[in-house]
Amino acid sequence: MIVFAPRENSPGETRAALTPVTVQRLVGIGLEVQVEHGIGQRCNHPDAEYESAGAKVIEDRDAALGRADFVFRVSKPAIGEIPRLKRGAIHASFLDPFNEPEILKAMSDAGVTAVSLEMIPRSTLAQKMDALSSQANIAGYTAVIYAAERLNKILPMMMTPAGTVSPAKFFIIGIGVAGLQAIATAKRLGARVTAFDVRPEALEQAESLGAKALRIDLGGETGGTDQGYARELTPEQLEKQRHEQGRVCIDSDVVITTAKVFGRKSPILVQQDVVEQMKSGSLIIDLAAESGGNVEGTILNEEVVTKGGACIIGLGNFEGRAATHASQVFSANLGNFLEHFWDKEEKAFPIDLEDEILKGCVLSHEGKIVHERFKNH
Ligand code: NAD
Repeated sequence: MIVFAPRENSPGETRAALTPVTVQRLVGIGLEVQVEHGIGQRCNHPDAEYESAGAKVIEDRDAALGRADFVFRVSKPAIGEIPRLKRGAIHASFLDPFNEPEILKAMSDAGVTAVSLEMIPRSTLAQKMDALSSQANIAGYTAVIYAAERLNKILPMMMTPAGTVSPAKFFIIGIGVAGLQAIATAKRLGARVTAFDVRPEALEQAESLGAKALRIDLGGETGGTDQGYARELTPEQLEKQRHEQGRVCIDSDVVITTAKVFGRKSPILVQQDVVEQMKSGSLIIDLAAESGGNVEGTILNEEVVTKGGACIIGLGNFEGRAATHASQVFSANLGNFLEHFWDKEEKAFPIDLEDEILKGCVLSHEGKIVHERFKNH
């Protein structure tokens, strides 16, 4: 079986789907591994490292795509590349399936087994394959480091002969994987951190990291789904949330929003009237920018300075700012996925659609869209 990882299509993508460590692992279980020349250029893995690990470095990307039994990549493929894949091949990457029905249809038409990394269940067994978590964790960290660099203030309290400098105030909205790492990082750097989430258990986790939890009684149903994701709030609940958290935003030096609702556009949680009242020099990092944004006025991949002098940062791919480590864990997730289902005797990757993990993440198989959520999309 041939595993191939091409270079990423998007010019802003710094990560690689396969790193030399994972290559070595896959070669060790008997797979032939090929990577496109330059795949690791932006995450500090030169071609020679891949060769030493046992991979073949390929110049002709199209030919390799047409030969591979298993294609690994970070982001969704360009739609024009899908017909070049071999019928029966498995393609594993983020696919953004709720917003990219054409890609999914093209995968199905091409007879490709499409694995969507976003859809891997949030179960204990699948944790080692959970690329959403491994990447969100790094994004939470890099967002705080970026804020620390951009803020015209220091983060910790300092008592000096020239007077006391008070700690920077961070407000983290959305305490999932990225939010928890943002809290932990900001606390380590000495900031004063407040955090909010609609899931009560997330507030307790924030407190255990030393943050102050903002408690808002939203009434009605909040909490999470069986996968741990937040439920969508009613318009009345959202209004209440925005009102209560507005004053915390206005008092903060840095607001980091990470609030997502799985499979839907992210809710707008910070509106323009609040942004306008934020202090000059304060920053809002909208980590939900790629799924629509949590802040009114966010522009994806741009920084917008408001009339009041606050800056809304809508940059995407924060995890790609630490490309070496983001690639390391991403590639490990994919390696774990392959190895978990690899049949050593048959030297094959059987697709059992009754398996809990595969049922969750295989969207198309043998020329059909097989996932319940996307069959009638
Ligand atoms: P996510 O990226 O979908 O959302 C980020 C956070 O935003 C979540 O905590 C969510 O509750 C919050 N949010 C949504 N709407 C909000 C609103 N209106 N206001 C404030 N916050 C709001 O979440 P995630 O980081 O992918 O994690 C989702 C859940 O999955 C968490 O409970 C996490 O602990 C769990 N998880 C479980 C496993 C596992 O068991 N294998 C692995 C990873 C994550």
